[in-house]
Amino acid sequence: MKYTGPIFRPPPEANTLLLQVTVGCSHNTCSFCTMYADTPFAVETMEQIERDLAEARNRYDRLTRIYLLNGDPFALGANKLKAIAEKIIAYFPEMETITMYASIRNIKQKSDEDLKQLRSLRINEIWVGVESGDDEVLRHLRKGHSLKEAYEQLARLAEAGIDHNGMYMLGVAGSGKGIQHAIDTARLINATRPRLVGVTTVGFFDGSDLSREVMENRFSPATEREILEEERTLIELIDVENVEFFGDHPINAVAISGFLPRDRQDMLETMDHILEHGNPAILNRIVPRSSL
Ligand code: SF4
Repeated sequence: MKYTGPIFRPPPEANTLLLQVTVGCSHNTCSFCTMYADTPFAVETMEQIERDLAEARNRYDRLTRIYLLNGDPFALGANKLKAIAEKIIAYFPEMETITMYASIRNIKQKSDEDLKQLRSLRINEIWVGVESGDDEVLRHLRKGHSLKEAYEQLARLAEAGIDHNGMYMLGVAGSGKGIQHAIDTARLINATRPRLVGVTTVGFFDGSDLSREVMENRFSPATEREILEEERTLIELIDVENVEFFGDHPINAVAISGFLPRDRQDMLETMDHILEHGNPAILNRIVPRSSL
């Protein structure tokens, strides 16, 4: 299998075969992100993709899920994605789900008909970096989408029958704003009904614009306590039937996951216990999180 440069995939895809269809990220301007800063965006050739699929077919008797790399492969044109999906199905007729990362912009660039055709080619679940339910925060992060666009495009995705796993950030609104950020983000989640909600704590990585803002005192980071209170509020307010809450990302202070509403009470009790009995010297600190 050919892999170029750094590779990032959501932790729950740890056991999924990774197929490189792009390198880097087509957006590459989010103010907090340095993942692909030194990796120019490129599109993998169909010849190489086919070589990798042939190699995988030799290795695996049965494959029902595959994850397309890299930062936002849904940026590819619909025809290219359809051609890739058709190749995957030709090699793996048993394939059930072709998944990948997508931005709200990537969805906006596809027609309703494109989305339906991609769904019919088993692209039926995608990971979307939504990050926030606050318009000002989204602008600050330079995500490339507005809150209105997030509502609209996630609705179009659902209409086409494509499930989404929504990725959101904690601590990203800054000190004193976490609870309101959780309220606004829960409102977006409840309206757009993801299959999974993943949360990651904002990091201040060397070279990112956000880390420069912190160093120059232009952004006031939240303490660990504020971040946990934000996460607790989110867990409390998510009102989607049988949604998986994934908080086990290694960048988070507390590994907490479960299904809502089923596990809500247990999860809230865990958070309350940590907030009440955790070491104040840690809870009241600002942890820079300068690497993944
Ligand atoms: S957060 Fe995602 S969309 Fe933004 S620059 Fe990083 S990889 Fe690209």
